[in-house]
Amino acid sequence: AVEPGSPYRVVLLGASGVGKTAFANIFAGGADSMDSDDCELCGDEVSDREIEVDGETATIILLDTWDAEKSDEWTQERFMQIGDAYLLLYSITDRASFLRASELRITLRRFRPARHTPIILVGNKCDLVRCREVSTSEARACAAVFDCKFIETSAAMQHNVWEAFYGIVRQLRLRRDSK
Ligand code: GDP
Repeated sequence: AVEPGSPYRVVLLGASGVGKTAFANIFAGGADSMDSDDCELCGDEVSDREIEVDGETATIILLDTWDAEKSDEWTQERFMQIGDAYLLLYSITDRASFLRASELRITLRRFRPARHTPIILVGNKCDLVRCREVSTSEARACAAVFDCKFIETSAAMQHNVWEAFYGIVRQLRLRRDSK
């Protein structure tokens, strides 16, 4: 359960190559890097920082240790259980990564009912317009079916990346406030 003032654990999910590391780097820019011993998942890519959203400060712990291709089932399940919220990334230039995001959404639903756990479907690399393989309208329709929010981003251009984090915080607060 998320209590007011406690940090939110946000997990980056998605196929490899979609931009999770780029997202984490933007997030971590200027933030304290946590010692990996502090994290029960002993990941190497954990950072936390305070961000101000709508005049209120929130602390986010971002977890980017998850790799759909490399981790074993146990690790994957731990990540499905540990997050307060999820950024589900795919690349708009890679249809396979979009299908992977759908699979991950289905797996996630088994662990986390949507009404408790915000998920934002993130179509990254939207700067690569000429290589687009997934249309905005298709992804938006998919997000509606998945019962999650949707945003297109470009980590390369630093476009909408923070908006994705703000969106996560707003979704978490809506759930907190409705308790
Ligand atoms: P990860 O495997 O999900 O962590 O993906 P990375 O963050 O390592 O990104 C994979 C590759 O895509 C790298 O070469 C990044 O520079 C590139 N990349 C990430 N985000 C974007 C983006 O928004 N636009 C473009 N053009 N390239 C990106």
